[in-house]
Amino acid sequence: METVACNLCGSRQHTPVYQMPDVKFFPNEFFTVVECNQCGLGFVNPRPSFAEIAKYYPREYYQDEPTASFERYLKRRFNAEARFLREIEHRPGPKKLLDVGCFNGQFPRFMRARGWDVEGVEVSRASERITDFPIYTQEFHEIPGDEPAYDAVTAWAVLEHVHDPMAYFRKASRVLKKDGLFVFLVTNFHSLASRHLFGEDIPRHLYFFTRETVRQYVAQNGFALIKEHNGRSVYKLAPEHWLAFLIQTRLRGKPFTYGDVALSSRQFRRVHGLKKGFSTSLRYAAYSPVSVIERLLLPVVETTQILRKTYGISAYVAQKL
Ligand SMILES: [Zn+2]
Repeated sequence: METVACNLCGSRQHTPVYQMPDVKFFPNEFFTVVECNQCGLGFVNPRPSFAEIAKYYPREYYQDEPTASFERYLKRRFNAEARFLREIEHRPGPKKLLDVGCFNGQFPRFMRARGWDVEGVEVSRASERITDFPIYTQEFHEIPGDEPAYDAVTAWAVLEHVHDPMAYFRKASRVLKKDGLFVFLVTNFHSLASRHLFGEDIPRHLYFFTRETVRQYVAQNGFALIKEHNGRSVYKLAPEHWLAFLIQTRLRGKPFTYGDVALSSRQFRRVHGLKKGFSTSLRYAAYSPVSVIERLLLPVVETTQILRKTYGISAYVAQKL
């Protein structure tokens, strides 16, 4: 484990925000998320070092399900992602895209079918299967070339995972042509889900951005922020446990800690060895009536958050100056 200064402003003054375990793989290992007192950036501190982080990405993390519904979901997601690049698609001439964190290469292939020249960066073993376009297997800031070569660089749900986001912004700025676009999606540290409801994938997510911190990252690296999109069209971060949070903090006047989080219906079935069905639903409702009400009202809560720009996911478009 290592203790770090703020990646954005260098300050070592920060305040703990919450603690939670690695819910997916190491439920007994707890981590602390802090907020920089100076700039508001959120980060896990102390955190697994670069050498230690591989342990938190076991093989199961990368399992993709080649089912029909998953394919439909991907197609919807890629279409939503491509919309952020439409402005460049309308420019004359060939266009070159670098997709950072491209996993098994499906998004670059989707964009190639729309007429782009594509390249990818992927540090996981998922890159081994990519043979049909150039792929770099090191961290983005370590790939060869510092010349403006790309019309667009994309990073979908990547910057929250890396140990040095500043290096990624710097590299994006170097390799983009003038007026080129850096399009990235991150979780929103000003959302209930990220900041209060334990919705982050800790410690695979190491950084938690806000509109203000993103604005500073892009300004410091020669970009203008031209678009912010807060919503669920690409990835979702639903405000689960929102009602339990309100009851605990507003009615009872107590902090909402990880210990106050109810089991999800899936976790409940696993713990009690139950199958899906009506009687299981009744048992779950008896265990956590609040969760059932939360679920019913979730669409309304999500829509309200999106309208108020406080949803858990934000995508940004930064233009190279
Ligand atoms: Zn800071």
